[in-house]
Amino acid sequence: MIEKQPSCEDDREPALLPVSEARRRLIASLQAVSDVIEVPVADGLYRVLAEDIVSPVDVPPQANSAMDGYALHRDSIPSSGETRLQVVGTAWAGKPFNEQVCTGQAVRIFTGGIMPAGCDTVVIQEHVRCTAGSTDEMTSIDIDADVIAGKNVRQAGEDVAVGQRVLPRGRQLHAADIGVLASLGIARVPVVRPLKVAFFSTGDELCALDEHEPGSTLAPGKLFDSNRYTMAALLRGLHVEVTDLGIVRDNEADTRDALLRASSDADVVISSGGVSAGDADFVTRVFHEVGQVSFWKLAMRPGRPLAYGQIGKSAFFGLPGNPVAVMVTFLEFVQPALKHLAGMHDLDTPVFPARCLSTLRKSPGRVEYQRGIMRLDDQGELVVESTGKQGAGRLSSMSAANCLIVIASEADGVQAGDRVQVQPFHGLLPG
Ligand code: AMP
Ligand code: MG
Repeated sequence: MIEKQPSCEDDREPALLPVSEARRRLIASLQAVSDVIEVPVADGLYRVLAEDIVSPVDVPPQANSAMDGYALHRDSIPSSGETRLQVVGTAWAGKPFNEQVCTGQAVRIFTGGIMPAGCDTVVIQEHVRCTAGSTDEMTSIDIDADVIAGKNVRQAGEDVAVGQRVLPRGRQLHAADIGVLASLGIARVPVVRPLKVAFFSTGDELCALDEHEPGSTLAPGKLFDSNRYTMAALLRGLHVEVTDLGIVRDNEADTRDALLRASSDADVVISSGGVSAGDADFVTRVFHEVGQVSFWKLAMRPGRPLAYGQIGKSAFFGLPGNPVAVMVTFLEFVQPALKHLAGMHDLDTPVFPARCLSTLRKSPGRVEYQRGIMRLDDQGELVVESTGKQGAGRLSSMSAANCLIVIASEADGVQAGDRVQVQPFHGLLPG
């Protein structure tokens, strides 16, 4: 009887490293980049703040009206009956009324108009009776007694107060943040310099799209290199500087050359393929020679073999070759690592509970990331269905999916109707 070696076909393999522990070690081993650059706020989208942003001003800068109406002091209104007030002027947005308003007086005011001195309240135009002329020309108004002091006034600093920490260091700026920074008059922002990421594919079977004559058939045994394109697309969403090192053939010399070349300048080097235990798998072997390997057999599927470690100053990820495994390991390991290196604190991807409508097969002992399509059902409950066959080479299953179904290590399958966890691509896949 042949003594079988551990493999990804085993139901249980106690030596496998749990995903959560691998991620913890990964993050602990990486030091965030500390180089800071300053960019115009308009170029700040998706960059990571290198310093806290403290507001130099109040927003809004002065108290102003939230509505079209009449500014007055609440003390001008007696506690019962109607009151007639004299309209002494107009406060437009951007064109203030600069005189003192006295008891018994009101000022016509429009949304955004600064509250004139002596006024603390705005009564909306729908709640007054104009006593003479058209709305714009009238000289006095009648008002009921039920006026609440301070109503319809936006106070100075009520959105952001001067000295307030508006955005924390480590924050990845999104569209609203760019607007907030502009609202504070901040024209340039300190951000972490972009990470440099080099990547390549490995495999004698691979054909690069730009080496292929359109319309001609691929030689037997050849296939198009898709991993490099997936990787470039995933990285583009993370706003890093990329170097595409192409396809590296399955031999020691080329693999060594690629690893050393890639690590000479990049913060992070990513390869795909060649990390299993096969004869043509050179990445791990060469990596052991030129760098320090931290771990490489994970309790997950797809993505069991994953080389991780350091070559010189670069962090190196040797992802598996299977296209789905590339995406899953990228999303679960490379992406949080890049976020951490860029100084971000929030590394967790959102996970939601959903009811699974499909029966899913799985062995205990490893976390499985299956491809799912989630939606709200007629009752408004989040449900998820499998995309079907889950082979790690079926990249189309990833493209058909809108989430990963994450099945816990100890589970031995999912019955239709069971609760599962889903990681939506929206929020997981970089945008
Ligand atoms: P490996 O880990 O190198 O043994 O590759 C595992 C499987 O993934 C093989 O079937 C490869 O042909 C396939 N594969 C590896 N690299 C790529 C790539 N860049 N694009 C598409 N498929 C790939
Ligand atoms: Mg290979």
